[in-house]
Order: sequence, then structure tokens, then C-alpha cells
Amino acid sequence: MRKIFLGAPGSGKGTYASRIAPKRNVPHISTGDLFRKNIKEKTGIGIKAKEFMDKGDLVSDDIVIEMLKERIENEDCQNGFILDGFPRTIQQAEKLAEIADIDIAVNMCVPNDIIIKRLSSRVICKDCGEIFNTLTLQPKQEGICDKCKGKLIWRTDQEPEVIKKRLEIYEEQTAPLIIFYKDKGILHHVTCNDLYQSPDEMAQKILTKIEELANNI
Ligand code: ADP
Repeated sequence: MRKIFLGAPGSGKGTYASRIAPKRNVPHISTGDLFRKNIKEKTGIGIKAKEFMDKGDLVSDDIVIEMLKERIENEDCQNGFILDGFPRTIQQAEKLAEIADIDIAVNMCVPNDIIIKRLSSRVICKDCGEIFNTLTLQPKQEGICDKCKGKLIWRTDQEPEVIKKRLEIYEEQTAPLIIFYKDKGILHHVTCNDLYQSPDEMAQKILTKIEELANNI
């Protein structure tokens, strides 16, 4: 069970990965969350990453690869993991292939207008990183995380100009991974055309697909 969730920022990969991973008993590893944790703790990685992230740029490959390698060497990854937000460049994908055998890459296909609406209305828990959305996925209590009761905050990379840049960078640097994994024969697409589609239903649809595929591996 070593899976990758691919897709543009705002395509839902983090939201779905956080629901599916506990059902499969594997960790959900989001490089964005790992960076935000490092930023909060003011580590060397956090200080370097913040500069890139605030501008909407990708953090340099060597930093992210080192951080990810260390994370997947942890004991909790022995039975697998779901990667969300990694790899994001061909170089990262090549490095990952050297350190782990990926069995399935799931690509989230979501139209750009939905992505922009989602990104500009997203709030996250400052403590556990859980994702909410002021339009479509509201917390039970305004401003408070349903999971851990942490405070919900806007991310610093949500300005319209920064969102635009993140989407351009996705097209240039991350979208080529679709071909990379298609050529490896492990790519599967999941489509969501509805802004209001329930995340739990979508997560269930993806989980069913993953389980069907896993039975055939
Ligand atoms: P989103 O997918 O919505 O952009 P993430 O939380 O995955 O959100 O990522 C936020 C930011 O963290 C990215 O814009 C980038 O600066 C940095 N980041 C996360 N993962 C990577 C990665 N694999 N390579 C380089 N930068 C990354």
C-alpha cells in the first residue's frame, strides 16, 4: 500500500488522503503539512521553506526529498503510506522510485474554476492541519477544528496572485508526472466536477477504487 495522490492545489488530494489513510491503517504524509509544522517550530527546514511557500513557489527538490526520505523511513510506514503533495517534480518522482515501490498513483481531475473557488475559501487547522472550506466543508463550530478543537486559520499562500502562481507552477512542473506514472502503468484518474460534492462520498469512491485495484496487484 504505497500510494500517491496527484492533482493540482485544491483538487482535494489532502482532504481525501486524510480520510482514506486511517481506513487503510497507513499514515497520510503531506509534504505541505510537514513544511507547515517545520515553519511553526522554526526549524532550519521551516525557515528555508517559508520563503518559497509564501510566494507560491516550490521548495527546492533537495530540501523536500531529504525531508520525505526521513519521514518514510519511520516505522509507521512499514505497511505503506499515502503521499499527498509529493512528488511534485520529475526529479522528485525519480528520487522516490529509488527509495520506494509505488503501487498506485491516483490523479484527481477537477476543473480550474472549482479549484480556484476551493482554494480561496479554504481554512486549515493550525494544530493538526485538517482542511475545511468556508463554502463547502464548514466546521461544526465556526473557526474551530472538528477533529482537535484547534483554531482554523487562512493559509499565507491564499492571495489571488499566489494562487495563480501555484496553478501555473502545477501545470509546468507537476502535471508532467501524469505522463510519468501513466508510462509506468500505475496511473488511475478520479474526476470531481461538482464544487459541492461531499468529501466523504468522494473519499469512499476513491477507497473502493483503490481496494479493487489492490486486489488485482
Ligand atoms: P497545495 O497542494 O494546496 O498547494 P500543499 O500543502 O501541498 O498545498 O503545499 C503548500 C506549499 O508547500 C507548496 O506551494 C510548496 O511551496 C510547498 N510544497 C509542498 N510539497 C512540496 C513538494 N513536494 N515540493 C516542493 N514544494 C512543496
